[in-house]
Amino acid sequence: MSDTENNIRGNHPISSIMQLSEKIVEAKRLVSKAKRITAFTGAGISVDSGIPDFRSEGGLWERFDPHEYATIESFMQNPTKFWTMGRELVETILKAKPNSAHKSLAKLESDGKLIGIITQNIDNLHQAAGNKKVVELHGNYLRAYCIECKVEYVGDAIHQRVASGIIPPKCEKCGGVLKSEAILFGEPLPERAMAEAVELCRSTDLMLVIGTSLSVYPAAYLPQLAKNSGSQVVLVNLEGINRDSVADIILRGRASEILPKIVD
Ligand code: NAD
Repeated sequence: MSDTENNIRGNHPISSIMQLSEKIVEAKRLVSKAKRITAFTGAGISVDSGIPDFRSEGGLWERFDPHEYATIESFMQNPTKFWTMGRELVETILKAKPNSAHKSLAKLESDGKLIGIITQNIDNLHQAAGNKKVVELHGNYLRAYCIECKVEYVGDAIHQRVASGIIPPKCEKCGGVLKSEAILFGEPLPERAMAEAVELCRSTDLMLVIGTSLSVYPAAYLPQLAKNSGSQVVLVNLEGINRDSVADIILRGRASEILPKIVD
């Protein structure tokens, strides 16, 4: 028995075990039939790579109140607080490697079935797994810019400075404070990424929604947009979420265990 089934057995009656395996067979059928698959991913897909999500038990929000650490207002008032949290998150991200869920999506793309990934993650793990078409709605930890002169910084050099205690990091040209490209609460989403995401939602025939609580808007509306445009939706998540009703099939379990089963 896999860990997934163990998880299910721990929380649900035996009939749910049957249901899960039946649902996996059905999801696999949808994947093999689909021609234009899109994945919509959140922090949960990277949990098995060692990066905690935000809202689950033990997640980042338990220690860092988002109102205090992750809004654009709090950043402008006190960037040191943001970078203190950022330092901890980035230390974890730098050690992380793509897990089997990321790799399954890379395989779907190289097989010519996946037309793109829309991600809320900033961890770069889809690209590390080999995916080429990745739309990042919330930015990428590897990019930062100066809030004064707007010069851009790419790569992990900023994080090395932060890791050595230089918080907040400052611009080498004008001395302004650097802001990570990661989108904070209260900031608009990048227009181009949002337009690309909408385009993917409109042209996909199967959306795999993986490891997201679908509680951050407007990103959380995208699976519904795909559904309204005629796509089927398969949801892979460890726990029930408010927007479960958007899904044709719900697979409750760990993404790293379920994805290989429906893709291979
Ligand atoms: P979230 O924390 O709100 O929800 C994560 C969901 O994933 C939860 O419902 C949880 O049950 C589920 N989950 C946890 N482990 C799982 C697993 N192994 N397999 C399948 N599902 C699992 O995250 P969100 O919806 O992505 O929204 C939070 C915001 O947090 C996003 O904007 C994102 O930018 C940011 N974030 C990103 C990272 C990252 O880049 N890895 C990490 C933490 C937070």
